[in-house]
Amino acid sequence: MSEKEDFYSVLGVSKGATEKEIKKSYKKAAMQHHPDRNQGDKGAEEKFKSIQEAYGILSDPQKRAAYDQYGHRAFQGGGGGGGGFNGGFSDFGDIFEGVFGGAFGDMFGGGSQRSNRPKRGKDIPYQMDLTFDQAVFGHKTEISLPRTEECNTCGGRGAVNREDVESCPICKGQGQIHRSQGIFSVATTCHHCHGGGKIIKKPCHKCHGKGESRKTSKLAVTIPAGVDEGFRIKLRGEGEAGANGGPKGDLYLIIRVEEHEFFERDGLNIYLSQPISFPQAALGCNLKVPTMTGFVKLSIPAGTDSGQRFRIRGEGVSDVHGRSKGDQIVEIKVMTPKKLDARQKELLKEFSDLAGDDTATQDFFGKVSEKVKDFFG
Ligand SMILES: [Zn+2]
Ligand SMILES: [Zn+2]
Repeated sequence: MSEKEDFYSVLGVSKGATEKEIKKSYKKAAMQHHPDRNQGDKGAEEKFKSIQEAYGILSDPQKRAAYDQYGHRAFQGGGGGGGGFNGGFSDFGDIFEGVFGGAFGDMFGGGSQRSNRPKRGKDIPYQMDLTFDQAVFGHKTEISLPRTEECNTCGGRGAVNREDVESCPICKGQGQIHRSQGIFSVATTCHHCHGGGKIIKKPCHKCHGKGESRKTSKLAVTIPAGVDEGFRIKLRGEGEAGANGGPKGDLYLIIRVEEHEFFERDGLNIYLSQPISFPQAALGCNLKVPTMTGFVKLSIPAGTDSGQRFRIRGEGVSDVHGRSKGDQIVEIKVMTPKKLDARQKELLKEFSDLAGDDTATQDFFGKVSEKVKDFFG
């Protein structure tokens, strides 16, 4: 018999590792070697099993203490060898739910359905890409959703006739066999029914006894006006089929919004950067400013600076409940003329002479030098 690897080195932690460190290393190792990510790789599957086994022991303070004292001997039963200790986890799905919580388990999709207890179907995350306008005004569309659905020929039973499904005689429908190993009682998956707890004598011809099938369904969805990047919309009961009569999971539409060519959004307000010329800024002007619904008039007073903001009330986004509405904020950007002909230059020089050079700059330097004088006395 080959020497069994030390549980601490399986998880890549030191003997004195804290519970937190063990859990962290376990998550990382389990993710890396999870069978769903390494399909058909026997080595990864074995590695995943030993990671589970090691974590099953080291995460339990009592078992860990026993292991620290006696090593692997603490868990070797009278039977010798055999399938080995599997930490009492019935399958990969359970362990991910147990350790990471439901949301994480969902990442790996279906998982195997062990034991004949009713089990709720998995939730499905679905990325919903919207244009800026669709997010602001709402959107109706149809999505194609691949998901597991209950077989409609056998109603999820796996056999057309009720009499063709029997409870497993070996595990009495439990899907697991409990036995003593060393000083602990250990559960292993029943090999007769592969953990399903039932034996199907005459499998349904459509789903081959699985009770479910993978299908791509068309689903009409309505996105309310006002959604934004990262919003999640829950569609109850539109997730994966449940097992053994359990309820369906939910579908989550996760909203992603494309950028707009010139509008930007912050919550319910919409921002627009509006370029104007230097004379327009100096003399004031009336603008026609684009909004999400058309154009509105905006009057810019004389002497407006670059970066100054103007608010157009009610031209923002409605919140998803339709209770309030944001504004459009117009930020002025004064453009400095780049190409000047001789006449334009002449006029600007004349303007500059009349204004006594650049008064704004003079004022600024005047203030700064006052401050500097004060400081040095
Ligand atoms: Zn069984
Ligand atoms: Zn069927």
